[in-house]
Amino acid sequence: MGYPPSTRHKTAPVAGERTILVVEDSKAYSMALCRRLTDTIGLPLVSCRSLNELHEAVTDDRAAFTLAVVDLNLPDAPHGEAIDFAVQRGIPTIVHTASFDLETRNRIMERDVIDYVPKDSEFALDILMGTVERALANRQTRILVVDDVTATRKLLVRMLKIQQYDVVEAGSGAEALSLLEADPEIRLVVSDYHMPKMDGYELTRRIRRRFRSDRLRVIGVSSSNDRMVSVGFLKAGANDFISMPFIPEELQCRIASNVETLAQIAQLHNLASRDALTGLYNRRHFFEQAGPLIERARAKKRSSAVAIIDIDDFKRLNDSYGHDYGDQALKSVARCLAQCADGGGHLLARIGGEEFAILFPGLDARAAMRQSDHIRLDVSHEALEIGEQRDGLTVSIGVAEIGEQRSFDDALNAADRALYAAKRSGRNRVSLDAA
Ligand code: GH3
Ligand code: MG
Ligand code: MG
Repeated sequence: MGYPPSTRHKTAPVAGERTILVVEDSKAYSMALCRRLTDTIGLPLVSCRSLNELHEAVTDDRAAFTLAVVDLNLPDAPHGEAIDFAVQRGIPTIVHTASFDLETRNRIMERDVIDYVPKDSEFALDILMGTVERALANRQTRILVVDDVTATRKLLVRMLKIQQYDVVEAGSGAEALSLLEADPEIRLVVSDYHMPKMDGYELTRRIRRRFRSDRLRVIGVSSSNDRMVSVGFLKAGANDFISMPFIPEELQCRIASNVETLAQIAQLHNLASRDALTGLYNRRHFFEQAGPLIERARAKKRSSAVAIIDIDDFKRLNDSYGHDYGDQALKSVARCLAQCADGGGHLLARIGGEEFAILFPGLDARAAMRQSDHIRLDVSHEALEIGEQRDGLTVSIGVAEIGEQRSFDDALNAADRALYAAKRSGRNRVSLDAA
């Protein structure tokens, strides 16, 4: 087995479950490839330069490699024998190839490989890294395949599994709908059109009554030559359509593009709900989420409580050490609050400049007071480093209970009054609005 010198220190001597296998005969290219994989993916690597070395590296332990990147042509394996070897041992394989034409493509695709990436441009390694990342990420994406004909359903399931997706299947629209209700992890539905009882259009319409397309994507499939079938799917609320028989690359690209759209939407949601400086939830998210959390607690006959947390004399800190330092202090308080509020089902947010809030769903005033006092103490024990100096920060906290009758707004006003009472009586304390 050969280990490129540049990656030797990061290379696992023994293949583990999360090891990537690299098979590439050119020493220079293998080094570049391993370096990029280490930088981008960060998993341990084992690299081989020939089929012979591959035989030595891959024992019959099928689960040993998480993925392989295999060169199509090797001096001792000119007809893709290394690919066959990896695929036959159940290693998910991506093919990297210098020669590329339709005949080569056909030779590669008749094997059960994830994808192929030609080495024909300066961006080849970028594309290859994207393909590896996607293949690994696909394992976290659950797809539901709906078709009443078992043979076509199994074919599609098999193709998607080769793509590393987590696949579930349904033999009818009704079965698909109940699977979707039970399993919120399903992100994408691939549905046939022609099915008895409920066809693909009707299934799509019913899906759209329950799930918006920013949460669940739908792709229609059909072997019909009637081009209106795709129109029917799209009008019913599907996001895309693929004709059968499938061209694997088309299936792959359309599904990948829908999965990517979901990831982008999730990223936007996350950005819109977070505060850029501290990474905590922002005011908007806090007010959006508080109502439903309080209602859920009320349904269980539990009251909730809210705390408003304000840093003491923060202006002095800003004025003494500068705004950048103030920002560091805000981050440090945020980290401390996040640790304190972690895991309790509480909702923590930065709701203003140096003001934070925590909703304690299901907690009464006494319990919330206790938690708040822990938080106050923890913050006061946190030391802030200012160059050579050390300074400390304290917070004042106002707490109010949200009982049966009280609205969330009233409770917030009450917590605000309690906060001011805490400030007036000397700061670094927790006060309850007893009203
Ligand atoms: P008190 O103990 O009464 O709360 O006094 P305070 O000085 O903390 O309160 P005040 O409301 O007078 O000042 C808050 C300061 O917080 C003023 C403002 O410049 C600063 N501030 C607000 N947002 C930020 C921010 O994002 N970064 C920094 N560095 N400072 C901020
Ligand atoms: Mg303050
Ligand atoms: Mg303030």
